[in-house]
Amino acid sequence: MKAMVLEKILPVKERPLKLADLPVPTPGSKQILVKISACGVCHTELDEIEGRLSPTKFPMVLGHEIIGRVKRLGQGAKRFKEGNRVGIAWINWACGKCSFCLKGEENLCDKAKWTGKDVDGGYAQYTVVSEDFAYPIPKRFTDLEAAPLLCAGVIGYRALRLSGMEDSQVLGLYGFGASAHIVIQIAKYKFPNCRVFVFTRPGQKEHQDLAKRLGADWVGATGDIPPEKLDCAIDFTPVGVPVREALRVLEKGGRLVINAIRKETPIPELDYAKHLWHEKEVKSVANVTRKDAQEFLPLAAKIPIVPEIQEFKLEEANEALILLKEGKMRGAGVLRM
Ligand SMILES: [Zn+2]
Ligand SMILES: [Zn+2]
Repeated sequence: MKAMVLEKILPVKERPLKLADLPVPTPGSKQILVKISACGVCHTELDEIEGRLSPTKFPMVLGHEIIGRVKRLGQGAKRFKEGNRVGIAWINWACGKCSFCLKGEENLCDKAKWTGKDVDGGYAQYTVVSEDFAYPIPKRFTDLEAAPLLCAGVIGYRALRLSGMEDSQVLGLYGFGASAHIVIQIAKYKFPNCRVFVFTRPGQKEHQDLAKRLGADWVGATGDIPPEKLDCAIDFTPVGVPVREALRVLEKGGRLVINAIRKETPIPELDYAKHLWHEKEVKSVANVTRKDAQEFLPLAAKIPIVPEIQEFKLEEANEALILLKEGKMRGAGVLRM
């Protein structure tokens, strides 16, 4: 099968992924072999490629927003039939026995494995996964539309839930890429009387236009003072400054959720009185659970979420990653196999 593989840690601009011919994997016990049709391109791949979150083996097939069809069942697998459309997300496996798993926090399991980081992922024509970690995909979405729902969508859904957002409140979104453009659609559906303020890098006009089209009540640049203080904020950016800037305009008792697996630059020093006092809270989001995906996918179909897609061929994965790094991806990048 064709795959784009990462052989070693490199800067993204050096086009780190190489086209390779790999054997089609064999599904093990209770696993399924999936013929991949689409795989989303996620910011986490940049962290893996550049070594902020190194894969645990090389060469590695990255990619964890996978849509495909079941090609073959491993021994004892019975949840799906051959030909069924399924999705695979970032959580690839969890132990099911530790204290985190037992209280429904498998996203924090120490033994968990992550798709495209610990096991080969979706930048390829085939992959295998445990049947318990694959999801049926609502009919409403095409394969390309469904791919970004599996990370950008699911983790955005989790971040919005963790923000404690309620109707009639003000939500601030820092960064407006693959995840935020889905979160604004969830927020507007669940909280019809909310206001959503979007902060981008200065001059990201395309991102700001997309935000307005999706119902943003105000758009500006990170560091700008919005018309009202934020009750909740979610930071989707890969850098540190928006953390301080969001805390600066957060309402008393408000909560900032940081939706990032790694930051490329440090969080600037915080001033306790200005940024944290008055019971402001900061919470990070780590990974996703299967429950997040199982709740979000049907909701996405019901809203319905309209993902904004930029399509690439598998062989163009490096170009897609460079655009993402430069902040030039409009909506979500998806590789078509
Ligand atoms: Zn991701
Ligand atoms: Zn566990």
